[in-house]
Amino acid sequence: MQRERVADDIYVFTSDLYAQVTAGAVVTSEGAILIDTLAFPEETLAIKNFLEKRLSCPVRVVINTHYHADHTFGTYLFGNALVVGHALCRELIDTRGRKSIEEARHNGPDFAHVIPILPSMVFRTGTLTIHLGDKTVELWHSPGHSPDSVVCLVNEDRVLFSADTLMPVPYFVDGSYEDFIRSLQALQGQTFETVVQGHGEVVLRGEVESKLQEDLEYLFRLQKNIEKALKSKNPDKALERIDIESCGKSRIPLNGIVQNLHVANLRTLYRQLRTAQLAE
Ligand SMILES: [Zn+2]
Repeated sequence: MQRERVADDIYVFTSDLYAQVTAGAVVTSEGAILIDTLAFPEETLAIKNFLEKRLSCPVRVVINTHYHADHTFGTYLFGNALVVGHALCRELIDTRGRKSIEEARHNGPDFAHVIPILPSMVFRTGTLTIHLGDKTVELWHSPGHSPDSVVCLVNEDRVLFSADTLMPVPYFVDGSYEDFIRSLQALQGQTFETVVQGHGEVVLRGEVESKLQEDLEYLFRLQKNIEKALKSKNPDKALERIDIESCGKSRIPLNGIVQNLHVANLRTLYRQLRTAQLAE
């Protein structure tokens, strides 16, 4: 696990074990706010030790940015913390999350002790504000990657934890293409010092707007290329030729995983657009 300090009191932890997934901690005089956990309990325990033993800062709040396993599997390690998330996150951990924990527990010793923890404080609309010590963290709904995704802004430092609303390639297979576009557009034109993506490297102030633009461009080009493929003689063949570069992205980040994400996006949007075409 890599640890990085992005502001005086804000740390980012990046997994060495799973898809460069990130977690963050806001350290305050009253304890820490943890934004997500890492997939493997051993890495989340390393975060807990760093905050609670090295910094003597107990974790008081855990935010689940969305229900996916790679972000929530470590919540159970913080039994004394208030767990916060979107109302849909609670519902999805209670259903799909339970199932994925059950499966993971059978898959080997790494996840043997993971148990489902549901957020006990939830919100549906607007902004949820958490005040702890001298810090203010604002959460708002940012669906697209998943139906329950939220982003978290540390107001005093203008550090945004975007979770999977920003990652090297937008990935909407479990969410909604249209929602994703709206959620990215909602982030445009705001000033952020740093944006912590759900996977991969942090985005610095000067790069935020171009990153948002590039992600939107990817989504638009993806749709355009698929529409073109649908009009061709052999749509399935044409679909295969839509590579990640033709949508303006590189296949290199996250050790090549982005290529798989792109192919899954392609199939999902293709099905959606084909169904729409048939209905016309
Ligand atoms: Zn993720």
